[in-house]
Amino acid sequence: MNKNTLGIIGGGQLGMFICIAAKKIGLKTIIYSNNEDFSARNYCDKFFIGSFFDQNKIKDFLNSADYFTIETENIPKNFLRIIEQKKKLFPSSKTVEITQNRLIEKKFLNKINFVKTARFFEINNFGDLEKSAKKFNYNCILKTQEFGYDGKGQFQINNSDLSIHRTKKLNQLILEERVNFKSEISVVAVGNGREVIFYPPVENIHKNSILRETIYPANISEKLKKNSLKISKFISKKLKLNGILAIEMFVTENDEILVNELAPRPHNSGHWTMDGCAFSQFDNLVSIIKNNELLEPNPLKFCKMINLIGNDYLNIKKIQKKYKSYDYFKKEIRDHRKMGHYIIFD
Ligand code: AMP
Repeated sequence: MNKNTLGIIGGGQLGMFICIAAKKIGLKTIIYSNNEDFSARNYCDKFFIGSFFDQNKIKDFLNSADYFTIETENIPKNFLRIIEQKKKLFPSSKTVEITQNRLIEKKFLNKINFVKTARFFEINNFGDLEKSAKKFNYNCILKTQEFGYDGKGQFQINNSDLSIHRTKKLNQLILEERVNFKSEISVVAVGNGREVIFYPPVENIHKNSILRETIYPANISEKLKKNSLKISKFISKKLKLNGILAIEMFVTENDEILVNELAPRPHNSGHWTMDGCAFSQFDNLVSIIKNNELLEPNPLKFCKMINLIGNDYLNIKKIQKKYKSYDYFKKEIRDHRKMGHYIIFD
C-alpha cells in the first residue's frame, strides 16, 4: 500500500503550513489538536480533537497515519513513545525529550565540542535561587524547565530583592545568566538521519521575549556565519537529526556564539523560507518524511519577515494589499499571540 498519510501533533500555524507543504507532494494530513480553535483545521484532511493524555484517541490517531511529526515540543513523553513504538516519528522522541526541557537541553549542549550556552543553575527551592542569583550578581533570568515559550514561564531578576519568589513553589526551574548580546541569530537544520542541510543564519529581533522580525541574511561577519553553521552541524550530528531543528543563538559583545535554545520542529524564524527560498523549511520537512530527500534551500534575495502580534492583526487587510501576508486564522486576538506574518523584499 502506498504510504501517503502524515499525522501531525498540534494544529497551530506551523501545523497549517506543514499541511500545505504536504498536499503539494501528495501527502494527506491528519492533525491531533488539544484545542478546538486551531489554524490547521481547514487545511488538513482529517483531525482529532482531544487531550494529549487520551490514550484511546492517541491510538486511533496512530492507526490512521503512516508517518508522524510535531509542530510543538510541548507534548507529553508518553504520547511520543506510543507513536514511536509502531510508526516513524520525525524527529525522534529522544530529540524531543532533550529539547523540551531547558535543563536537559543545556547539559546536552555543553557536552558537545565547540558548543556553549549561557551559564546556568538548576533551581528547586528558594535557597537555590538565593545562592545562584548572587553568583550571577542578580543579572539573570529564572525560567521553567518545561512548557515555556514566547517568554512565558520567565521571570527577570534585576536586583537582590528576591522576596516575590519566596512564596512561590520553586521547583523544576533553571536560572540563566542574562547574556549581554549584540544580536540574536538562528539556523534551521533539516536531517534525514544520515545527512543534514542548513538554511543560512538569519537575524532575529525580539520584543518582550517574542520574535518580532527575522532578517535574511544576518548582518554578521563571515566568520560568525561559519561558526553558527558549525555549531548547528555538531548539534544535528549528535542528535542524528531525522526531522527539523531550529538552533537559536546569541552573538555576544565578544563575538562569541552561545546557543540559547533548540526547537525540534519548523520555527517562526524560518518562515521567511516560504517566500525567500526555492524550498521552504516545510517543503524540506515533508520531503524527508515522504521521500527521505533533502532539498537545497537556494535562498533568493534579501527579505524580512514581520510577525503580526496581538492587535497588529487589526491592520492585516491593509498589509495584505502591499505585502505577501499570511493569516493564521485565530478566532481571538490576544496580547502576545502570533496572529500572522508578512514578508518584505528589498
Ligand atoms: P527563550 O524562550 O529562552 O528563547 O527566550 C526568549 C527571548 O528572551 C530570547 O530570544 C532573548 O531575547 C531573551 N532571553 C532568553 N534568555 C536570555 C538570556 N539568558 N540572556 C538574555 N536574553 C535572554
